Amino acid sequence: MEYCINHPEKEAYSVCHNCGNHYCQDCLIEGGEYYYCAKSECRNAMKNEKLSEIPPQIVCPSCQSVIAIDKNERLKKLVRCPECDSLINIAVNPPGIVKDDKFVQILSSMNQGDLGIIKSMLDDGGIDYFVNGENFLSVDPLIQPARIMVREDQFDEAKNILKDFELNIFGVSSNQNDDEDEDLES
Ligand SMILES: [Zn+2]
Ligand SMILES: [Zn+2]
Ligand SMILES: [Zn+2]
Repeated sequence: MEYCINHPEKEAYSVCHNCGNHYCQDCLIEGGEYYYCAKSECRNAMKNEKLSEIPPQIVCPSCQSVIAIDKNERLKKLVRCPECDSLINIAVNPPGIVKDDKFVQILSSMNQGDLGIIKSMLDDGGIDYFVNGENFLSVDPLIQPARIMVREDQFDEAKNILKDFELNIFGVSSNQNDDEDEDLES
């Protein structure tokens, strides 16, 4: 049987999560998840535990969409935004973008119709991409253009695919895309 380190006559109730010593109920403070003793370093550890509590959802720092955090992501403290594909560190407040893959900008556009076509072309070409700032675009198209980011190692491939798109804009190529009725002259 363990006894409180401060009160040798009292049976220990639990251990301090930080220092691991046994304490009676009077000597322990309940933190968010664990018990802590009264030592200042252990009190600090308790504060940090509270700070590191991760909310059930966060706002993506890149595209501002709201992302629900599941248990697995909570453990890893990392979540990938389903909207813009950013990898987000949720252990810090506010959440921060983690640079994992290298993405580079291939082009930018203010035109929603163009973006739709570009995205479907990249989808068809098996290119990993995300669009930076697309959500701003739908709110106010004049704030900033949406930037299409592709993985660095697929940049040339993507460029090749989008060459056709540029030709389509200027009406030079024969019309290979008959699935869109967008105004491509703008
Ligand atoms: Zn302690
Ligand atoms: Zn005690
Ligand atoms: Zn995002």
